[in-house]
Amino acid sequence: MKRDEGAFAEPVLEAQRRQYETMGISGPVYAFGEKVLAALKDRFEEIDAVAEYNQLKVLGAMQEARVSEACLSGTTGYGYNDLGRETLERVYAHVFHTEDALVRPQITCGTHALALALMSNLRPGDELLSPVGKPYDTLEEVIGIRPSRGSLLEYGISYRQVDLLPDGSFDYPAIAQALGEKTRLVTIQRSKGYQTRPTLSVRRIGELIAFIRARRPDVICMVDNCYGEFVETLEPSDVGADMVVGSLIKNPGGGLAPIGGYLAGKKECIENAAFRLTSPGLGKEVGASLAALPSFYQGLFLAPVVTAGALKGAVFAANLYERLGFEVIPGGSQTRHDIIQAVRFGNPDMLIAFCQGIQAAAPVDSFVRPMPADMPGYDSQVIMAAGAFVSGSSIELSADGPVKPPYAVYFQGGLTWQHAKFGILKTLQNLVEKGLVKGDFS
Ligand SMILES: *Cc1c(COP(=O)(O)O)cnc(C)c1O
Repeated sequence: MKRDEGAFAEPVLEAQRRQYETMGISGPVYAFGEKVLAALKDRFEEIDAVAEYNQLKVLGAMQEARVSEACLSGTTGYGYNDLGRETLERVYAHVFHTEDALVRPQITCGTHALALALMSNLRPGDELLSPVGKPYDTLEEVIGIRPSRGSLLEYGISYRQVDLLPDGSFDYPAIAQALGEKTRLVTIQRSKGYQTRPTLSVRRIGELIAFIRARRPDVICMVDNCYGEFVETLEPSDVGADMVVGSLIKNPGGGLAPIGGYLAGKKECIENAAFRLTSPGLGKEVGASLAALPSFYQGLFLAPVVTAGALKGAVFAANLYERLGFEVIPGGSQTRHDIIQAVRFGNPDMLIAFCQGIQAAAPVDSFVRPMPADMPGYDSQVIMAAGAFVSGSSIELSADGPVKPPYAVYFQGGLTWQHAKFGILKTLQNLVEKGLVKGDFS
């Protein structure tokens, strides 16, 4: 029997619209959102196709590594012969097509994972090179760009940086010149993080690595993969990276991992990191997984689809705010290589109203109103919105921005596309109610 689609769809859409109204989204804001969405069908289909590919990739890796029920119970104490931990690390190695991986709850966050990769693979007298400009803020202290206790600089490891050209392309002549005798490791940050440069596609990362390899086949090419996992069908380790590094409370944790970081790469690099994480002589053999494994496995399993939901949210936000006349980075129709979306408001009240909208849409702490505050390490006040199940998780719907020109908000995450959509509509609703955006969208 053929289903009458009209008769089925109408009551559902009507119920949906009423539910939005109950949740504080006015008719005109909802209608505007639907208009923006109608133009995004092809984009969303492409995102779903990438998610489908990556879902199969993760599933295949779990099957190949023979994940069993026994892998889900953790160990305590030293954690010798931790089947679940060892199998999970094989799963990560399969997913990233690398020789080995280190995936641990003892890696406390993304910065720690990156610091571990650097400190374990560099030796006194070596030089670290970033050919893509300034790295993520928290790495400044790891490297010693900002003086800090325990930095690479304190251990006699020097640092060089080649900035991207004004149009975002690689400065190949300067990179060739910077690759010196001492250069031991090249660090490439995939995501723009909180800068306005473009995020690097995996293809471009591959070109850069090939250029470096042709000149210095022996240097280690490491990619800071934060926010980039499962956004494309390829990962940097598919195009020559010796090591990819990231946080489990971003994409690959699928929103379920409560802590953790990962490194995947060449056996030699991963073993160096393991001996640094635990101790010389012990390496990967110790490190109890406690109760973390079920969420690591299940989170990784869900990660391709969760990442797709966050991507749809980013594309929706970009197109919605672009239509309203704001500068958005990346642009509404640009291809994406990470899940971060920036909107430049040029006005502090709008930045604050946006963040308060995201907070009001959260499942946790929705009744809290975030306000700008001073933060260590920042030279202006910062406003942050997050109502997350995992504290500080930025694969969950979140937004923040420094309260200074150009008053840009950085928005990311959403465990489901439906929640991301609601959050974005809530930001617009808040802007309209405060009289900061005209309610007729003319
Ligand atoms: C988040 C992030 C980091 C640091 O991760 P934390 O978990 O916040 O320590 C490093 N690099 C990039 C590009 C990031 O997005």
